[in-house]
Amino acid sequence: MTDKIFPNIGIVHFNKKKGCRKVIVKVLQNGETYVSVPWLYPIKLAEIFVLKNTEWINNQQNKRKNSQKLITQSQEKFTHFHDLEIVTGIDNSFRISTRNGVIKAIIPQTINVEDPRIQDELIKTVEIVLRKEAKIFIPERVKLLSQEHGFSYSSIKISSAKTRWGCCNSQKRIVFSLYLMTLPFHLIDYVILHELCHTVFMNHSKDFYALLDKCCGGKHSTYKNEIKKFPMDVFPKFTKDNL
Ligand SMILES: [Zn+2]
Repeated sequence: MTDKIFPNIGIVHFNKKKGCRKVIVKVLQNGETYVSVPWLYPIKLAEIFVLKNTEWINNQQNKRKNSQKLITQSQEKFTHFHDLEIVTGIDNSFRISTRNGVIKAIIPQTINVEDPRIQDELIKTVEIVLRKEAKIFIPERVKLLSQEHGFSYSSIKISSAKTRWGCCNSQKRIVFSLYLMTLPFHLIDYVILHELCHTVFMNHSKDFYALLDKCCGGKHSTYKNEIKKFPMDVFPKFTKDNL
């Protein structure tokens, strides 16, 4: 990965990828830009491509900024396994702790909860919590689903990737993003099954999708559309309705 800062765009990450056929630009929730570059394509040309598309990237960045939800109030089932409690403290210190399934944030009286500094701290804590949840929940779930459908794999890791839910290499090592925990349970299973199917087919061929569809009871297209409604790193995603 090569990083470069563009004056009107900010940080741009260039990532050379085997099997990638064209330059693909993706703007994340935090405004950072990821560019997938075909293996033999010169980075210099990809940079020119980015420059030419500055206006489009800026539009995407603005859209993302406007869609960012603020974490402003206490919420039961804030993540799958944690509630969130936000209270105003009696002094000016900011404290945040996680205990017994509750993330508790004590906000200074003088600062509004929407203040970017408070929001940053809240998001950092939520990420730590999601990672913990992922490390406990995902390996168990992968084990169960692989037994149920007859898959085998060599290892599971949890990453903080913000551009893909999971990936699987030819050694059957599977990596899942901690953000997977922000999806409803049936979509977590769907992503896990997708990666497990890669232990059989290392591509997105017809056979691959036929297997995946079979594993998720014929609901592959439904789930594929549903998952698009969940941008990877937008909090808070949960309401009681979509759990
Ligand atoms: Zn895949």
